[in-house]
Amino acid sequence: MSDGGALVLVSGGIESTVCLALAARHGDRPVAVAFDYGQRNRRELAAAERVADAYGCDLRVVALDLGTWGDSPLTGGPVLERGPGEADRVPAAYVAGRNIVFLSIAMSIAETRGLGLVYFGAAGHDAKYPDCRSQFVASFQAAANLGLNCAQEGRPIFIRTPLIGLTKPDIIRAATGWGVPLELTWSCYGNGEQPCGDCGACRIRAIGFAEAGVPDPALGP
Ligand SMILES: [Zn+2]
Repeated sequence: MSDGGALVLVSGGIESTVCLALAARHGDRPVAVAFDYGQRNRRELAAAERVADAYGCDLRVVALDLGTWGDSPLTGGPVLERGPGEADRVPAAYVAGRNIVFLSIAMSIAETRGLGLVYFGAAGHDAKYPDCRSQFVASFQAAANLGLNCAQEGRPIFIRTPLIGLTKPDIIRAATGWGVPLELTWSCYGNGEQPCGDCGACRIRAIGFAEAGVPDPALGP
């Protein structure tokens, strides 16, 4: 059987920090894995480090040159603004198959380290991204375990998505109640000293805190 240890994909944002908090509740210190894929917002990696430190986790940063794939909105390519009639399309911040890549690497690291769980912070409000949907996660888990030797030997790796049915305000409310250090998190797509307050990630975060009825502790008093 697996030793039950967990790997948590961390980005420095709210959802992955909540996943880390949940994984840390279950005994062993989880292994935190972040990706340096040339993202514009370098501050999210610093936030991932702060969050991993807060939980006493080993943080592994995997360098990945997504620029090799071509331009993408989060790595320096054009940010596509959607018109009013395009609200249901995949968001402008979509990076082609990003979570397929990230989860593949996570499964490989988990097998290497003998970990039985991978936490992935996809949430209900991410459902516009096809690689954040529960159907994708279930199918990916099944496919990955067909290709993992540990699974073939009876030790499958399970992907946990504890937030997949929850909205941003739900998550913020719960995290605040659990004392998750949301003041350490970073969501902005920009790279300024402070969150810009204007990008898509800042706007979604602000609406989430407003709807949750709690102030954003990352914005100070
Ligand atoms: Zn911003």
